[in-house]
Amino acid sequence: ALLLLTSALVISPFISIPLPDIAPFLPVYGTAVVLLESITAYLLLSQFASNRQVFAGFVASAYLFLIPLVTVQLLVFPGVFAPKGLLNAGAQSAVWIWVFWHASFPTLILLALMAQQKLTTQQVAPMQLKYWLWGFVLIPVLCSLALALFATWGSHWLPILIAKNSYKQLLHSPYALLVWGLNALALVCMIRRARSNNVLYTWLSVALLASLIDVTLTLFAGARFSLGWYAARISSSVSSMVLLCALLWEVNRLYVATQRANESLYQQSVKDTLTGLFNRRYLESQLAIHIDHAKRHKEPLCLLVLDVDHFKAFNDQHGHLAGDDCLVAVAKQLEQSLYRPADFIARYGGEEFVVVLPHTDAKDGMQIAERLRLNVSAKKIEYQGQLLSVTISIGCAVLRHSEETAQSLLIAADSALYQAKAAGRNCVKVAVDEPDITPT
Ligand code: GH3
Ligand code: MG
Ligand code: MG
Repeated sequence: ALLLLTSALVISPFISIPLPDIAPFLPVYGTAVVLLESITAYLLLSQFASNRQVFAGFVASAYLFLIPLVTVQLLVFPGVFAPKGLLNAGAQSAVWIWVFWHASFPTLILLALMAQQKLTTQQVAPMQLKYWLWGFVLIPVLCSLALALFATWGSHWLPILIAKNSYKQLLHSPYALLVWGLNALALVCMIRRARSNNVLYTWLSVALLASLIDVTLTLFAGARFSLGWYAARISSSVSSMVLLCALLWEVNRLYVATQRANESLYQQSVKDTLTGLFNRRYLESQLAIHIDHAKRHKEPLCLLVLDVDHFKAFNDQHGHLAGDDCLVAVAKQLEQSLYRPADFIARYGGEEFVVVLPHTDAKDGMQIAERLRLNVSAKKIEYQGQLLSVTISIGCAVLRHSEETAQSLLIAADSALYQAKAAGRNCVKVAVDEPDITPT
């Protein structure tokens, strides 16, 4: 806003200086405005379709309203496509379209603000959404097309506002005051609303300021192709652009936030809340993938099932909170005892953990299991001034044949764990039909 105001003030003493008629300027400007306004209207309508807030729909309508007016103005403007303009337009057509355009935009924005205040339903019912959407698109486009064609073919009924490219008659007509007043009023109302710290209101205020500057410069520049006239058109493109930039920024911000939320939801869905390890759901999905991979590439894979010994007694003696702290400490110790990036550990349930060791045969698996067992038993858990410790028993199973599944591997490791418990706990046992490998 400051940039717009400063630029307008700096050029204000020179606005009447005549400049050459640069032929491509108007087509480039008109095309840019139509494109910018179409995209803005599309983004606002998508916003309305998702949150069903009527304000966004009304503002989209205000932007859509301008598209037929700008397009027809470009066609009828003298010297752009034909010396007297296309569509059999009169000499007053382009300037009257300018009046309709610059009066309708602030009027429709005021209508949007009023609708937001007066309508009892701020959010339309999902069932009615499509009717509102059609209304927001068709009504402005048809009305504005009718207005543009009226200015084109009925311009002889309208008062003269321009003579030999000079806007003197326009400036001294009541329409100038009306257009300027509507823009100023819409700007003031929007700034008052923008205090509620809403991105849409704030940037609409900037768009309305650019529109007011556009109107002021056009009126006081006095003639077409003067410095003020060119500057007004640039200000008008800024008016069409600012809201689009803000909406794109907002869409991008939402995209980043959605990605972060997705990532965080995924982490929550695969992590165990107490220990921070992967949970059983993750284990079950990943184990099947690792087994398939190992089978296809004929690589070994080892699975360990770990269970804390006499944990019920630990809970009974020290309390459940101490039990929880103990599980966290065991989980951390297990995690720190695995070195390869492909190895992973999951909490299977209660005080049971599962370790998946890809590319690992029974001999290496037993060594790793032994390391885990020793590290856990050596860990001192501090709880309310006491140093506590627990031991774990481990059952080990390896992928043996192509029929092996995640389920059968877990059963094999679990039966080995049962043997370890039966053998007095705090030890590692391998599933029965594995070659006998005694840990070193
Ligand atoms: P064993 O050596 O045969 O494994 O004996 P155990 O006492 O460890 O086995 P049991 O299955 O009888 O008991 C497991 C205990 O683990 C019972 C339950 O209270 C405790 N437990 C399971 N999940 C949690 C948990 O999240 N926090 C705490 N504090 N205790 C848990
Ligand atoms: Mg258990
Ligand atoms: Mg246990």
